This record gives sequence, C-alpha cells and structure tokens, in this order.
Amino acid sequence: MLKKIKLHLLTPIKIMKYCKVCNKPIHERRVKLGYTDTCVDHSDAFKYVGFVAGAGKVDYQVTVVRNKETAEHMQKLLVTRGAS
Ligand SMILES: [Zn+2]
Repeated sequence: MLKKIKLHLLTPIKIMKYCKVCNKPIHERRVKLGYTDTCVDHSDAFKYVGFVAGAGKVDYQVTVVRNKETAEHMQKLLVTRGAS
C-alpha cells in the first residue's frame, strides 16, 4: 500500500498547455522548448529578436523579445526615437 502511494508520487505531473488558437493540448516536448501558447499548426514560428538598448557609451543592455507584439512595439519605439 505504502509502496503504491510512493510510486504514484514519483510519477511526474504533466502540466498541460493548450493552444490559444484551437485549444488543443500542446505537445509536452514543445512546451519544454518554450512554446506554451500555440500548437505546431498554429505556431507563427516567431524568431527571437534581440534589441540593444544603448543607455550610455559603455552601458548597454540586450533585450531578447520572444513576443511578436512586444517586438513590433519596441521596433516602433526605436523608429520614433531615431527620427527625433
Ligand atoms: Zn492550434
């Protein structure tokens, strides 16, 4: 009895993630890779976008953006800043 309970507790709990487009469960391997929003069919295959935010001559920060909307927003900000 006790052994049974122990074995049960040792079983890894799968955290299910669902596609935001079709609500289908996202494959575990895909979730591990960081794709927790969409299934394979609905992935927009958005690539990592890196921004270098220059705060000074030496100080700079590299921001990696994974979210498409955030990337587009940041790009707009950079364009606006560059125009002034
Ligand atoms: Zn989907």
